Amino acid sequence: MKLILLGAPGSGKGTVSECLVKEFDLKHVSPGVILREEIKKETTLGKDIKAFVERGDLVPDQFVVEVVKLDINGKDNYVLDGFPRTIVQAESIEEIGVDHVIELEVSEDIVIERFSGRRVCPKCNAGYHIKFLKPEVEGVCNKCQTELIQRKDDNPEIIKERFRVYHEKTQPLIDYYKNKGILVSVDASPVPKEMCDNVIRVVKEWI
Ligand code: ZN
Repeated sequence: MKLILLGAPGSGKGTVSECLVKEFDLKHVSPGVILREEIKKETTLGKDIKAFVERGDLVPDQFVVEVVKLDINGKDNYVLDGFPRTIVQAESIEEIGVDHVIELEVSEDIVIERFSGRRVCPKCNAGYHIKFLKPEVEGVCNKCQTELIQRKDDNPEIIKERFRVYHEKTQPLIDYYKNKGILVSVDASPVPKEMCDNVIRVVKEWI
C-alpha cells in the first residue's frame, strides 16, 4: 500500500507514522531523514544538498523528489511523511501511484496546548509536558534535577503562525487529492493511542 500522511506540526504525524509502520509493516519514507543521511554520507547528491542547507535555503524540489524516488524505487508498501509538500512534488510522483492520502485533522487550540505545554531539560534534553508527560517534581528534570525550561518556539504566537503557514501551503494539496477522491480525514485530537487506533481502523478498510 502506498500512503501519504498529511498533518500540521503538532498533529501527531510522527506518532501515527510509527503506528502504521508497526501495524502494517510499511516503510517509513521521510525526505528530511533521507536528506540528512545523504549529507552525512557525503554523496554527490549530499554535497549539493548541503550547500542549500548551509545557506539556510530550502532544498529545491528536484532534489527532494530525487531522493524520495530513489528511496521508494521498486517498493509497494510505504508511508510518505512530510512529502509531497507542493503540487509540483505531488505531480512528480503521479507516475508511481498513490493509493490513499490520510489527513490528520487537528484544531489550532489543541496544537497550542500540545506545544505550549512542552518543557525541556536544558542540561540533558529530556522532554516533558505539563499535562501529558509530567515530571515527578513539577518543573524539575527526573534524570538530572535541573530546572526545566520552555523553548522559545513553543509560545502560542509562533505556534499560531506555524499553523497558519502550514494550512496556507497545504490546502492546495488537500484539494488536489480530494479531487482525485483518495483523501480521508482522520480526527487527530484524541490522545496518541486512540488516534493511532482511529487511523489503523481506516487503513484496515483498504486491505
Ligand atoms: Zn535533565
